[in-house]
Amino acid sequence: MQFATLAVHAGYQPLDDRHHAVMSPIYQSSIFVHETLDSQQPFSYSRSANPTRSALENTVAALEGGRFGFAFASGMAAIDTVLRATLQPGDEVIAVADLYGGAYRLLTRLYAESGIKVTFADLRQPEALRDLLNPAVKLVWLESPSNPLLNLVDIVALADIAHQAGVKVAIDNTFATPYLQQPLALGVDIVMHSATKYLGGHSDVILGVVIVNDESLAARIKLVQNSAGAVAGPQDSFLVSRGIKTLHLRMDRHCQTALQLAQWLETQPAVEQVFYPGLTSHPQHALAKRQMKAFGGIVSIYLKENSRAAAERVAQRLQLFALGESLGGVESIVNHSATMSHGSMPPAVKAACGIREGLLRLSFGVEDAADLQADLAQALA
Ligand SMILES: *Cc1c(COP(=O)(O)O)cnc(C)c1O
Repeated sequence: MQFATLAVHAGYQPLDDRHHAVMSPIYQSSIFVHETLDSQQPFSYSRSANPTRSALENTVAALEGGRFGFAFASGMAAIDTVLRATLQPGDEVIAVADLYGGAYRLLTRLYAESGIKVTFADLRQPEALRDLLNPAVKLVWLESPSNPLLNLVDIVALADIAHQAGVKVAIDNTFATPYLQQPLALGVDIVMHSATKYLGGHSDVILGVVIVNDESLAARIKLVQNSAGAVAGPQDSFLVSRGIKTLHLRMDRHCQTALQLAQWLETQPAVEQVFYPGLTSHPQHALAKRQMKAFGGIVSIYLKENSRAAAERVAQRLQLFALGESLGGVESIVNHSATMSHGSMPPAVKAACGIREGLLRLSFGVEDAADLQADLAQALA
């Protein structure tokens, strides 16, 4: 079945529900009654499994072409679960250098302190990974396109190099969504999303998901999910399930508007550089065409005036773009990465990643593109 059909139908069958509810019901219940002491039933206690969460977990697995899905209380809880499931003290993880600020904080503040070596690397040249591999490396952590500068990595090539050394590969697929990029098919072992963003899509829920194909990896993730217990609640699972039904429609519009306005932004005198994988000026445009169906809804810009004051002026003049932390909603959002999404990165690391004061990250919503362009035009004037 094609993606649009899966987005609407996969993961939940109305006839399986006692009342044939067309939408997965919200099972707001901590326990499910046992008929006998030794009854075998799929649902017993909602930390272990909950029907509303299971429906979402099945849906995201289907969308990523995976066998096992898991839903967590946040994207960060999903990342934490992947790291816990794959790493032990003494192990090393190699992560892409430009990654989500929260993932950077988790790795450097919590994991590095607990005896796990964290190495950040620019993996835009896949061969760079080969030089870093050693017997202690157990996981390679990718993010493509990256937040906020939309750098890509060659997923097929990196998975191949890691697997030759017996190392597992995980990817944060939040920016692309399974509609635009399906990393399991490209060779990755573990896919993670902040469903807070495009999967939910309406800026009303915090949730994370993990999808895998391998059965022993799934068992390990299930053990962490059930033992540490950072599970997604039924209300939040429902909201993401509902959001996913229109994921493909929203993404088509996000991508169309982002490409159109990225091209227009390149012509604006107040803008020094535009970052968008769909632009022919993007150094990895060919790779983007190879591994993505379209190029996403996020465009980052360097203002010619590289200062916090200039960024703040533009952000505050914008009327239709909410100044906020998140992305991927139906409403357009502008983010000052240096102080907001990547505020937890040390200044030197930000500088090395190109996260400077005059950088703004634009998340194009599903409003009218001409209205968004007019808003940007007046804010940049
Ligand atoms: C937001 C985000 C996260 C963290 O997800 P939460 O749901 O906020 O915990 C991780 N990775 C990326 C790329 C994100 O944008």
